[in-house]
Amino acid sequence: SMVNSRDRDLLARANKVVPSGVWGHMATRAIGPGYPQFFSKSDGCRVWDVDGKEYIDFMCAWGPNILGYKRPEVDAAALAEIAKGDINNGPTEVMVELAELFVDTLDYADWALFQKNGTDATTTCVTVARANTGKRKILVARGSYHGAVPWCSPSVVGVTSEDRAHLILFEYNDIQSLDEAVAAAGHDLAGIVLTAFRHDLNRDQEMPEPAFLKHARAICDKTGAALILDDVRAGFRLDVRGSWAMHGIKPDLGAYSKAIANGWPLAAVAGSRRMLEGASKIFTTGSFWYGSAAMAASIKTINILKNTDALPHMQAMGVRLREGLASIAQRHGFVLHQTGPAQMPIMRFENDKELQIANAFCAAALRHGLYLHPKHNMFLSAAHQPADIDRALEGADAAMKDVVSAGFKSM
Ligand code: PMP
Repeated sequence: SMVNSRDRDLLARANKVVPSGVWGHMATRAIGPGYPQFFSKSDGCRVWDVDGKEYIDFMCAWGPNILGYKRPEVDAAALAEIAKGDINNGPTEVMVELAELFVDTLDYADWALFQKNGTDATTTCVTVARANTGKRKILVARGSYHGAVPWCSPSVVGVTSEDRAHLILFEYNDIQSLDEAVAAAGHDLAGIVLTAFRHDLNRDQEMPEPAFLKHARAICDKTGAALILDDVRAGFRLDVRGSWAMHGIKPDLGAYSKAIANGWPLAAVAGSRRMLEGASKIFTTGSFWYGSAAMAASIKTINILKNTDALPHMQAMGVRLREGLASIAQRHGFVLHQTGPAQMPIMRFENDKELQIANAFCAAALRHGLYLHPKHNMFLSAAHQPADIDRALEGADAAMKDVVSAGFKSM
């Protein structure tokens, strides 16, 4: 249609010069029908597609936007570093300041080192765990996402079985299955990797069971293996002290990215003293990893998160959205499963295995000015205000009406 003609033109051009046009999880063919692929700008809690349509955004760039797109204090801190020179022959003093801030902020961290993407951070954690223990086996939960390189990619295309020879799978929150994986590792256990909570694609989210986390901690205490928290997606959105502080469990290593610099490119690994030796010995680096602009943005972002009500605000906005969506769904005859932390919401319609209702609802929501996701968890930011949530709920109500008129109903 004429509505998204620029988007289609750009995709046609991309298809000629970029393999598959647009790649990875942000390719809209992997999300659902009706999604614009290209964006032109963003501000606060809003994004504009390349054809000029405005949306209230609930994906937050898949996590990085935590304080609002273009948050002035954060961007000013980054731009001040750019004015001085972002990329140099080594770090600037902001690297030390940021590491000090991580150590002061996370409840388990004695040191931090920095990268660019979440995959860099999770991969570095695995390398540190192996270096520290001299062992090889890494235990990961079936269905958890840890990144896009051969050891952890959700796709097997271009990946060899040797790349994953030392991975052993278990079920998140299942003590018996974890014990079986530990037994299979024998004397070769290097680490156990867990996401902050279970936030896998297309399923209800689950908080970690306290007994399960305690058990994983006890295994690592006994064997010297590293308990690795993949906090890339949830980090700093639940608790600035780390996402397991609320459960009283300290990991040995934690991986961060996404929200830590409010959209400026940065990742981090934090660790306890116990992992310092391995972390000091490995070779890890990248041409852009010492960039000072993103580090300055991170210092500002973390300080705002620590010193304002950003997190409780975000959570309250998530609750407002969740309660509103639940009553709208009910009014239109649908049962909606909304699970996990309210600031990282997921919506799943009951009896919707093929996602027909979810896809129809999200496509209609786009038309009514909301950017949602049919099967991945979404994200709130500190920029979402009650009026934005209420406006979004009006759009959701209109979208739900469209879904009912199109003949969808709950089975
Ligand atoms: N771990 C988790 C839990 C993630 O959600 C992601 C990103 N979706 C990653 C690791 C990888 O991060 P990145 O895409 O920045 O490499």
